Amino acid sequence: MFNKILIANRGEIACRIIRTARAMGVKTVAVYSDADANAQHVLLADQAVYIGGSASRDSYLLGDKVLDAALQTGAQAIHPGYGFLSENAAFSELCNANNVVFIGPPVGAIEAMGSKSAAKQIMQEAGVPLVPGYHGSDQSPATLKSAADQMGYPVLLKAVAGGGGKGMRQVWDSDEFDEALAAAKREALNGFGNDDMLVEKYLTQPRHVEIQVFCDNHGNAVYLFERDCSVQRRHQKVLEEAPAPGMSAELRQAMGEAAVKAAQAIDYRGAGTVEFLLDVDGSFFFMEMNTRLQVEHPVTELITGEDLVEWQLLVADGQMLPKAQHQLTLTGHAVEARIYAEDPDNEFLPATGTLAYLRTPAESAHVRVDSGVIEGDEVSVFYDPMIAKLIVWDHDRDRAIDRLTNALRDYRIAGLTTNIDYLHRIADSQPFRAADLDTRFIERHTELLSKGSAKPNPLNDQLAMLAGALQQRRSAIVHSSDELCSPWQSNNDWRLNYRHQRETTVTLAGNDYQIVSHLRGEHEIIWSASCDGQSIANGTVSCRRDGDSVHFVLDGQRSTATLFDNGEQLTLFNTNGSFTAIVAGPDLGDADSGDAGGGLQAPMNGTIVAHLVEPGASVEAGTTLLVMEAMKMEHAIKAPSNGTVSEFYFAPGELVSGGAELLDFAAE
Ligand code: ADP
Repeated sequence: MFNKILIANRGEIACRIIRTARAMGVKTVAVYSDADANAQHVLLADQAVYIGGSASRDSYLLGDKVLDAALQTGAQAIHPGYGFLSENAAFSELCNANNVVFIGPPVGAIEAMGSKSAAKQIMQEAGVPLVPGYHGSDQSPATLKSAADQMGYPVLLKAVAGGGGKGMRQVWDSDEFDEALAAAKREALNGFGNDDMLVEKYLTQPRHVEIQVFCDNHGNAVYLFERDCSVQRRHQKVLEEAPAPGMSAELRQAMGEAAVKAAQAIDYRGAGTVEFLLDVDGSFFFMEMNTRLQVEHPVTELITGEDLVEWQLLVADGQMLPKAQHQLTLTGHAVEARIYAEDPDNEFLPATGTLAYLRTPAESAHVRVDSGVIEGDEVSVFYDPMIAKLIVWDHDRDRAIDRLTNALRDYRIAGLTTNIDYLHRIADSQPFRAADLDTRFIERHTELLSKGSAKPNPLNDQLAMLAGALQQRRSAIVHSSDELCSPWQSNNDWRLNYRHQRETTVTLAGNDYQIVSHLRGEHEIIWSASCDGQSIANGTVSCRRDGDSVHFVLDGQRSTATLFDNGEQLTLFNTNGSFTAIVAGPDLGDADSGDAGGGLQAPMNGTIVAHLVEPGASVEAGTTLLVMEAMKMEHAIKAPSNGTVSEFYFAPGELVSGGAELLDFAAE
């Protein structure tokens, strides 16, 4: 076995690989960029080497720098994790040429699967079933369109060099084809430097079912069953589970054997995933093979009891697979939820910011948290906004889902927008519990999964809790004062001859409320709230603080919430989820609704991709005026009303900062 390996990655996956390496007695070397100087993977590894600037292209994507770091530190092998250099054939070749083992498949296998169209060609020859489509080399728009017209709509355009859902467009009608092709090509060129496209029949109700395969250098190949990754947004996985609900033993075997056949067709080694679309009638079609460890590998680990990173190291070291097919077992059910910094209520726009408050659920045999961040860390624009993965296991799917909903309630983050409450809404929804799954699950249930549909604390309860929390904030300030005994610091609101009231404006879900409250006795708060001068609610709440917990008694019901208060924002977490209010005090300036959506400003730091209208031309409300790219996604800036664009302030290719005015728009 190797003495030392280098991990050419960051975040949760780097930390996860380090853990297994350490358990196997293998020393680890981390690499890091400017932005990651104090990141967890750097602190966790035995050694760490600085490799460059924060942008991935200046650090984690620089194969020669990464290799130098390995040579410098005497690492005998490099684990690329997922993303970055993991499917980069040139990098794997560079490693070979320098006698450093690339922990992944041979160069030929990466190359074979690097192009979606070439991969389809190979699989067709190997007799693996394919989604009908065009994957030829004639790339003229007319050929692509006529292939689509012949196939019949809907079709899916895919970048042959694509990944991560990028460079992909659904086309529902021949009339939409040209525009969709242009957009997909633009995204592909930007993302992969190659805008070749393939056209596939778009299946309208498939499930995404993928098979984990493993091969060694001794001719052994196995499948470690399947994962269902049908719950997706923007063709990207959100929840993954194993096994796939409703999978028969026969279908499992058929798909497993097809996946092994696919791997053998390209002389595969190590861990790989063969992705299939499973149609309603049980037919399945090869989509692509990922020649690396997948983000969602932990669900497979929890149902098989195997450590896939350990298997990777053993295979890379030339050893045999630890188990043969008949020795592998599948026990219970596992679900993974990807915790993202993003706004599910605003088209899943990635969010950035500081993890000002972070509490994770307790880990156990049922709950696993794969994370690479701690409180105070930054989610920056430079990398994928995934914060962590929460993985649960139990004896059956229902119980696993209960584990998940409970653990999500215990996952508490403030300081930036996350999808945690959204994940809870999915996990707790009737269709998810009923395993009514397909890849358009989220699209089909937009209404059901929207914020309004959940059963959060009713507005009155939220206002009551805020009134209580605001009083608690005062007590906290008073108690931290040096002059504890001073009568002027008394916080009981007792005043000679008059009742002392407090008035605060809070902004909750975009609405401003005036909360007036006073304290009766030590813990009882009498409050009332109004909005636009109209009284809307009032009542009494009893409230005590204990560290970051606040205990409330509201209408005779006791409850406990966790409070995070950064002076401007109050976030309360309880068993119904979380809510944040912006508090405007005399010293805090105007309340800001925190709405990051739309507008004619850049939603975040990014690059201008294209102007889609001519200055001076009249446009209708909703017309896309400009496209920008930020955090690896394209964002459309649309006309807020009928009107004209007088001027664009930035040219395509220019960098803009979040909040910058992008154009001058004159409403009609
Ligand atoms: P990427 O490599 O960009 O992630 P994939 O080819 O793996 O792209 O596809 C991602 C997702 O897109 C799939 O999980 C599935 O939901 C959807 N998808 C891909 N091909 C089709 C198709 N032919 N019909 C319907 N959905 C598809």
